Amino acid sequence: MVSRVIPVASFDLLLFGATGDLAQRKIWPGLFHRYIAGQFDENCRLIGVSRSDLPREAFQDKVRASISGPDEDDAEIAKFLELVDYVSLDATGERGWDKLQGVVREGVVRAFYLSVAPRFFGPIARRLEEHGIATPDSRIVVEKPFGNDLASAQELNAELRACFQEHQIYRIDHYLGKETVQNLMALRFANSLFEPLWNSSHIDHVQITVAESLSVEGRGEYYDQSGAMRDMVQNHLMQLLCLTAMEPPSKFTSNAVRNEKLKVIEALEPVLDQDIARGQYRGNANQGSYLEHCGDPESRTESFVAMKVNVASWRWAGTPFYLRTGKCLRERASEIAVHFRSPPHMIFPGIDAPDGNVLVIRLQPDEGITLHTTIKDPGPGGMRLKEASLDMTFADSLSDEEQPQDAYERLIMDVIRGDQTLFMRGDEVEAAWAWADPIIAGWAASGRKPGPYDLGSSGPEDALLLMHRDGRRWRPIGS
Ligand code: NAP
Repeated sequence: MVSRVIPVASFDLLLFGATGDLAQRKIWPGLFHRYIAGQFDENCRLIGVSRSDLPREAFQDKVRASISGPDEDDAEIAKFLELVDYVSLDATGERGWDKLQGVVREGVVRAFYLSVAPRFFGPIARRLEEHGIATPDSRIVVEKPFGNDLASAQELNAELRACFQEHQIYRIDHYLGKETVQNLMALRFANSLFEPLWNSSHIDHVQITVAESLSVEGRGEYYDQSGAMRDMVQNHLMQLLCLTAMEPPSKFTSNAVRNEKLKVIEALEPVLDQDIARGQYRGNANQGSYLEHCGDPESRTESFVAMKVNVASWRWAGTPFYLRTGKCLRERASEIAVHFRSPPHMIFPGIDAPDGNVLVIRLQPDEGITLHTTIKDPGPGGMRLKEASLDMTFADSLSDEEQPQDAYERLIMDVIRGDQTLFMRGDEVEAAWAWADPIIAGWAASGRKPGPYDLGSSGPEDALLLMHRDGRRWRPIGS
């Protein structure tokens, strides 16, 4: 069998924020897995960069702790750690930059991963340029959040573009690195089955859900500055909406795909106040409420939001997209559910039929795709109908070698390859903020408090009403 792992060119990856939570939980393990898989070799170097003054060995111990596990091989870990170096510097001062300059090599791909707070993006970009570490071929990766509103996103874009060109800037949205999200494009554009039906004549509505079961306890004060709209809708749900609604790009190149996504964002109609439901979770005997977790009893920040969004285009006129996301919901489950219209004429009168076909693209847990169809209920006793699922759970249908990688693994290797398809372009991010800002400003002006909802529920009553008013129902979370 031909190897599925295509090795990347030799590189120096400079990971800023190398001691931080994200680096420890996702980036180091992701790099290690790609190394084990043979995607890069001993000619590559991974240079951790952080503020702490640590000897190389102490830093390597931190990396070892983040990648060690019962299934990992100590000899492989030792080989991987030989690639790992460390430089301590101050992102906003002069300490350490000369040393960093001396560490990077010529003739290999050079990538800077900024896993640090956004206030450091500009200062780090500037120093990389001033010290001659940034070259016309190097790449810079930035983490979310990319701005808090349109003005701050424009400011970040301006800071980055002062030192790097757009084709060098990789804005991460790790949802785009998920296998099923990319599969949505394959499903739509590599099959002739779905695309003829992918419009308002055949699709009644689309539901996009990103539900989390955890609370914001421990980071409530930070979360209270953003809320569900800024933290999830403006970026992750928006990207899922774009991939579902976009026109087929002429080819699968980064700019062709991103041009089509941008057109979707620009075609979004303003969302009416009556088409939005916001919520804050209540507490119970065992767990605090949102207001307790964020530490501000008067907070008006939402831990849940649901909304009906219309895309003003020939393809989607009359087919709403319902988005919902929140904390402390009944399960951790993310999916895109495409609800097809019921058959135009029912030839089985008087027989209870399930709703029309639903195509569910599951992001988590159990990445996969399910098509809900209607079949005859087997057995004697006349014609009865029942629902049956055509299920493709990736874990069941793919071999070990084909199992989906963690999104970060995939995205970091795309950076080294120079493929920006799964990263947000600057104009996309700004367009998404231009759409979100008036909605958020409307909430601030009204002063209305989000409605309460129970822990482990499906969200506030208003979210259910939003659907019922339209004669529709949310899919149960985690169904
Ligand atoms: P974190 O745990 O607070 O780590 C911050 C990192 O920045 C540390 O390595 C710290 O180094 C370094 N740092 C702070 N001040 C510095 C300075 N003046 N000079 C050089 N380095 C400095 O943050 P995080 O949770 O990993 O998040 C990093 C970024 O990813 C943020 O933008 C965050 O919004 C984003 N993000 C995080 C997650 C997540 O799950 N954590 C998810 C999505 C996005 P020292 O430890 O040496 O001080």
